[in-house]
Amino acid sequence: MNEICRDFPILNQIVNDERLVYLDNAATSQKPKEVIDAVSNYFLRDNANVHRGVHTLAERATEQFEQTRFKVKNLINAKSEREIVYTKGTTEGLNWVAVSFGTQVVKSGDEIVVSYMEHHSNIVPWQILCEKTGAKLKYVKLTKNGELDFEDAKEKITAKTKIVSIAQASNVMGVVNPIKELAKLAHENGAYMVVDGAQSLPHMKVDVQDLDVDFLAFSGHKMLGPTGIGILFGKMELLERMSPLEYGGEMIDFVELDHSTFKEVPWKFEGGTQNIAGVIGLGAAIDYLQDVGYEEIEKKEHELVEYVLPKLLQIDGLTVYGPKEPDKHTGVISFNLDGIHPHDVATALDMEGVAVRAGHHCAQPLMKYLKIPATVRASFYFYNTKADADQLIKAILATKEFFK
Ligand code: PLP
Repeated sequence: MNEICRDFPILNQIVNDERLVYLDNAATSQKPKEVIDAVSNYFLRDNANVHRGVHTLAERATEQFEQTRFKVKNLINAKSEREIVYTKGTTEGLNWVAVSFGTQVVKSGDEIVVSYMEHHSNIVPWQILCEKTGAKLKYVKLTKNGELDFEDAKEKITAKTKIVSIAQASNVMGVVNPIKELAKLAHENGAYMVVDGAQSLPHMKVDVQDLDVDFLAFSGHKMLGPTGIGILFGKMELLERMSPLEYGGEMIDFVELDHSTFKEVPWKFEGGTQNIAGVIGLGAAIDYLQDVGYEEIEKKEHELVEYVLPKLLQIDGLTVYGPKEPDKHTGVISFNLDGIHPHDVATALDMEGVAVRAGHHCAQPLMKYLKIPATVRASFYFYNTKADADQLIKAILATKEFFK
C-alpha cells in the first residue's frame, strides 16, 4: 500500500475474497482520515448551530463554517469569499442558477446552449426553464472522438443565446472542455457562462477569474469531502441580482409583520440550518487536496491513464468511448465488452473486487447520441495505483472468459 492509500482506511479491505479496487470515483470519491476526523471532531467537541450563538461552541462552529468559504475562494481564485454559496451539491447549484437567475434573464425566443455530453443535472433545469419561458434549448455536437465540436459551438452560440452551460469535464468519457474559449464566445454574444464543475474540481486547478465564468457549481463528495455539501460560485453582481430560493430562518435581516428584509450575499441564499459538518469536512478536503497539490494529482492520474488505456484498447472486443489518447483524458474511462451487458460486466468485476459503475451515468442524451444503452465506467483518482489497473485488466479478461 502506498503512502496516500494509508490515508484512506476504506481502501484497505477485502471484497469477495479479493483486494478492493475502488474505481467508482466519478460517482463519489473516498474520504481521507483528515476529513473523517474533521467531521467527527466537530461532533465530538464543537457541535453547535452557527451564526446565532454567543457561546464558545457556537463561535468555534461558526469560525470553521466561515473558514471553509475562504478556503473555497482561494481554491478557485474567486475575487471575494462572498461569491461562495453553500449548496447541497452540483445539482442544487445548477437548479438555483436556472430558477433564480435564468427566470430573470431568459425570455421567450431566447436560446440556452448545452452540449450532448451533459449530465442530467445540466440539462433538465434548463429544459424546465425553457418550458416556463418559451426559450429554446440547443445542443452542441461532439466530434467523432467524443470531444466537444467547437465549430458547432460557434454556430449554436449566437446573439439569441442567453446562457451557455457546459461541464468542464465529462462524467462519461473523461474529456475536458475548453471552458475559457467557450466563456469568451458566450460573452462576445452577450450570453452568460455557467460551468458544471462536478468532474473537474476533484482533478484540476480551476481559476474562475482566468476562465472568466459567471457561475460554477460543484460537489464536495467527489473531491474527498462529505456528501450533501456543494458550492455555487457566482460573480458578485450576478448573485446580488438573484432572489433567495428558500425563505425563513438564518437568511433574514429583519422580519416585520407584513414584510421582511434579507441578509446580503451569500447568506441570503443559506436559509435554515446548514450542513455544518459537511462544510467543515469540505474545508478539510480542500486542505488535503492542496497538500497533495493539483500538479501531483494530475501527474498521478495521467500516469494511470497512460498505463491502463492502451491495455484496455488491446483487449479484443472491448470498445472505449471518447478519446483514445491518454493526454485527452481525465481518469474517467467508459467502455463496453462485445455481447455482454454492462451490468453483467460490472457484477462480474465486483466478484473480482473491482468496483465500477454501469448504466447511462445520468447522461441519457449522450447514450442516445452514441447509440448505446449504457457503458461500464472505470473512474480513477490519484489514490489509485498501477496494481489497481492490473487488477481491472485481469478482471475484465476473466469476465470475457466467463461469458465466452
Ligand atoms: N454533473 C456531473 C458532470 C456529474 O458527474 C454529477 C454527478 O455525478 C453531477 C453533475 C451531479 O452531482 P451531484 O449529484 O453531486 O449533485
